[in-house]
Amino acid sequence: MKIPILHLPEGFQRFEEIIKPGTLHFYRQEVYPAAIQAVAEVNKFQKNIRCRVSLRTTAHHACDRCLEAFAIPCECAFELLFHIGKEDLQTEEEDVVLLAPETAEVDLAEWIVEQLILSIPMKLLCREDCQGICPGCGANLNQEACRCGEKPGDPRWEKLRELLK
Ligand SMILES: [Zn+2]
Ligand SMILES: [Zn+2]
Repeated sequence: MKIPILHLPEGFQRFEEIIKPGTLHFYRQEVYPAAIQAVAEVNKFQKNIRCRVSLRTTAHHACDRCLEAFAIPCECAFELLFHIGKEDLQTEEEDVVLLAPETAEVDLAEWIVEQLILSIPMKLLCREDCQGICPGCGANLNQEACRCGEKPGDPRWEKLRELLK
């Protein structure tokens, strides 16, 4: 997603883009196989440009407990502050991205990628009460009962039972 800088008018502008799958290349890219709806709300005041970017897509994960794949909506937003020209910058308290005066446009891809990676939760659960996998029998306890209590039949008794028939 590119924001024009050189010919950006003063005041508020809104940019929208659908980022097609596979156009951003990054580590953990497989988490975001769907298109990403990006909206940038840009506000220019003299040499300062405030840019608020919101992203909407679907994130695909594997559950930490049961290992099943699941998809959840992903919505996130971040804000950037650009300043055109390096010499006359007054503010020091905020993270300001300095732009050379001849900058034609700014590509937001690297910030979008950073935000998508930050949006991956630390704990990935297919649902809040996921029962996980039984370490004994390997049953997915969301779908089936644990089989650990079922004792396997003794093959010698099986033979005897056959004979008694
Ligand atoms: Zn699960
Ligand atoms: Zn079990």
